[in-house]
Amino acid sequence: MKTVRFLPVEKMNTTGLGELLAPYRFTGNSNDLTAVKIHPGEEGNSSYISAELVKQVIGALNLPERRTFLTDTTVLYGGRRMNAPDYISLAHSHGFGMPGLPPFIVADGLAGTDEYTVALPDHCETKVARLAAVLARTDSAVMISHFKGHLLAGFGGSIKHLGMGWAAKAGKLYQHSSVMPFVASSKCTMCGACISVCSVSAITMSGSSANIDKTVCTGCGECIQRCPAGAIRISWNQEAHTFMQRMAEYALAATMATDILVYVNFLINISPDCDCMSNEGPPLVKDIGVLAATDPVAIDQASLDLVTAAGSLTEDVGEAEDKFLHIRPDRDGREQLRAGERIGLGSRTYKLVTV
Ligand code: SF4
Ligand code: SF4
Repeated sequence: MKTVRFLPVEKMNTTGLGELLAPYRFTGNSNDLTAVKIHPGEEGNSSYISAELVKQVIGALNLPERRTFLTDTTVLYGGRRMNAPDYISLAHSHGFGMPGLPPFIVADGLAGTDEYTVALPDHCETKVARLAAVLARTDSAVMISHFKGHLLAGFGGSIKHLGMGWAAKAGKLYQHSSVMPFVASSKCTMCGACISVCSVSAITMSGSSANIDKTVCTGCGECIQRCPAGAIRISWNQEAHTFMQRMAEYALAATMATDILVYVNFLINISPDCDCMSNEGPPLVKDIGVLAATDPVAIDQASLDLVTAAGSLTEDVGEAEDKFLHIRPDRDGREQLRAGERIGLGSRTYKLVTV
């Protein structure tokens, strides 16, 4: 049974984080190139894990000063995270250039096309994962994840951060290609908001509604979030399995590419939407604390269980109800945990040790 360590929010300070992370303190070679995988937050987002907290985790883990770096990959949609110069400038504006922090670099190159490929075991549906090029030379990595809701995955924690977060653009495209949205024409008001956010011009207005060209769409999900009428949908029941399976398989590939020292999930600002959104929405529950483990499936299962058990800040959610499933009944995020266990990424059985 995997151990997941838990630091309650009341003890979330430098001393508490030191205690939580003591078993995972760096003992490797100080010449190792060590990545700290973070999400510096979309422009306008306010729930991402702050630079100050990242600094405290790095200090608690005693990571080597010289060769540690912060990193993340570019995204499929428009905005300031689509290429390296824009992303670095955004990360700096969110504090990830502050003195005392390692440098932030973009893991998949200038435009998201620098790749490192990993062949997956035969029992996986994905044969080759197209990951970020920095993994070719990264000796070890620390995953710092924000546990929160997610538009396509139900919720996002360590598995999503590993699977989608380490993928180069082609890898993200492969994972998203199973999720093709369509417009429910009877709901469409022809406002045009979706057209302006689609970075690949897959949407046009024709007849009495917007239409999505599936041969052009990358499945990034941006238009679903932006449609004020809720007219853009996904045939989730058919597509959930493939999306979650691919994400879990990419997560497995990332663990094969480098030595992951520890997974750290922050259960604070648990918003309905993720850090890729400029407006993530108000928290679903009060802040819970921080978890640490060496198993991405166990830590996400423990995170979900803690959020489920927490009192909801929304009146219509029942006691001990899955908050994420409540807001998106057609997106069962537990499928990523099941897929992860099926392929050997980790275990859903865990022992929670409160620090
Ligand atoms: S149509 Fe929607 S999901 Fe497809 S690429 Fe455009 S914004 Fe992304
Ligand atoms: S954003 Fe929604 S309502 Fe507006 S045009 Fe697109 S599909 Fe129609």
